Amino acid sequence: MPTKSLIAATGALLLALAAGIAPARAQGLPFALKAVGPGVYAAIDGPEGHSGSNAGFIVGETGVVVVDAFFNPEAARALLAEIRKVTPLPIRYVVNTHYHADHTGGDSVFREAGAVIIAHRNVRAWIRTENINLLGGAAIRPAYRALVEGLALPDEGVSGDLTLWLGDRRVEVRSSKGHTGGDLVIAVPDAHVLFCGDMLWRRVSPNVIDGTVSDWIASVRGFATAPDAAETRFIPGHGDVADVSDVRDFGAYLQLLSKETAAARAAGASGDALVAAVLPKLRAVYGSWAAFDHFAPREIGYMAAEQEGTKRRPVPAP
Ligand SMILES: [Zn+2]
Repeated sequence: MPTKSLIAATGALLLALAAGIAPARAQGLPFALKAVGPGVYAAIDGPEGHSGSNAGFIVGETGVVVVDAFFNPEAARALLAEIRKVTPLPIRYVVNTHYHADHTGGDSVFREAGAVIIAHRNVRAWIRTENINLLGGAAIRPAYRALVEGLALPDEGVSGDLTLWLGDRRVEVRSSKGHTGGDLVIAVPDAHVLFCGDMLWRRVSPNVIDGTVSDWIASVRGFATAPDAAETRFIPGHGDVADVSDVRDFGAYLQLLSKETAAARAAGASGDALVAAVLPKLRAVYGSWAAFDHFAPREIGYMAAEQEGTKRRPVPAP
């Protein structure tokens, strides 16, 4: 599946790094599996983007919690096989950090393995509709439409916080704000690991199509100022395993995007002129980040719409 042309066609998702729904690589894993704590693993998408995003899993005394399911179901099957090498315990839950298809595409693989699908309560309303918009709207490829319309619906909806117990191991599922309006982060307190989904991108320019950057900045500040932040390993939705300095960098990116967009608007710029005014300011600091040229110009437009009060966002479920 030619991902470069997909980007050009959809202009929506971080599929610059995704291989779509093509089979995973014949040799090796489509992700790097990294132990980030005792019984806690991050599955970091490879440089070719075959998985579409990051995922991970947590092993406790009584079972396994999977965090996110990639875009590519083949990658989800590969993750399931890796989990089975680590433990025979039941896979009790897959927790989606948000509705985007590059994090939910393989949910059914884990459901078929026995997992209950947990997501923010808005996800059930959005997963088969808003993903059409995310992947190109009316211009969506037929293969992607079929994938989106076949996505598994969550079994349980979270609107606040939820504690999952795997025997003595506590896994905290926390609502967060900024990326979509239906975001969860997953903490493993005894291991000082925080799975952030797309609330955090490490050295990758973020997709803010559904975002509320003002909320996002506050949430990221919260991650960076938590009491155990200095010893926490943060698992982003895209990019490698992060530490607190990476979290601060990402927050600074969002702040610069907001500040420079506001300044250019105050100087009277709009549309293409606004992008032309802001983009060099971002590029000077963050031009080396992956997907910068793809996402940064769009981010400026979305940021301006947010500041003008005209931003389109998914409507929360009633
Ligand atoms: Zn996302």
